[in-house]
Amino acid sequence: MGIHDTAPVPQDLTPQGALKRLKEGNFRFVNNLKLNRDLLEQVNDTKNDQWPFAAILSCMDSRTSAELIFDQGLGDIFSIRIAGNVITPGTLGSLEYATAVAGSRLILVLGHTGCGAVKGACDDVRFGNLTSLLQKIRPSVEAENTVMQGRDSNNPEFVAAVARLNVHNSVNQILKHSEVIRELIAQQKVAIVPAMYDVATGYVSFFDESLFPDTPSPVKEGVLLEK
Ligand SMILES: [Zn+2]
Repeated sequence: MGIHDTAPVPQDLTPQGALKRLKEGNFRFVNNLKLNRDLLEQVNDTKNDQWPFAAILSCMDSRTSAELIFDQGLGDIFSIRIAGNVITPGTLGSLEYATAVAGSRLILVLGHTGCGAVKGACDDVRFGNLTSLLQKIRPSVEAENTVMQGRDSNNPEFVAAVARLNVHNSVNQILKHSEVIRELIAQQKVAIVPAMYDVATGYVSFFDESLFPDTPSPVKEGVLLEK
């Protein structure tokens, strides 16, 4: 097992280094090379403290467990999960704790193909308390402009396109509503990266072309990190 697994986040670990760990972890996952961790030993190693190097905001979908698809052990990552990986005061506060208080170097916002919440938003489903959650995805449904026909949940291409926009929208919402995280990004202490998980293959696509864009500032302009 990697010796870094239960050690404190090194002071010199950069956001790029944290991203590399996640990429390597997903590589191990899709190649069936997962590390042979002793989870009980990790319970003991982390009994007094935790040093997660990244925070992952992902969907509650039973196929997208962050620890599994990035081959991480106990104490390695904060895993924040909510249907449709949307931003709420709760998920935003959790991300602020993960980065500003606990020292995680990276925020990964992870959407996925075949997302039930995105499908619900595509069909404008109204049901109990789900209604207000799905409304957070509706702007991405309305913004999608590449699929001309079959703009509903029966079209996997449309659903995946909306899911990608929804990931970028969540990134945007974090930048727009969290002064704490904006400041950490400006200091290059934390990076925020959108990504998509393919439930058919296990692969994660990272959209990390510009970790610290500066002109024009995505913070001040509130624009997407990349399109
Ligand atoms: Zn989902």
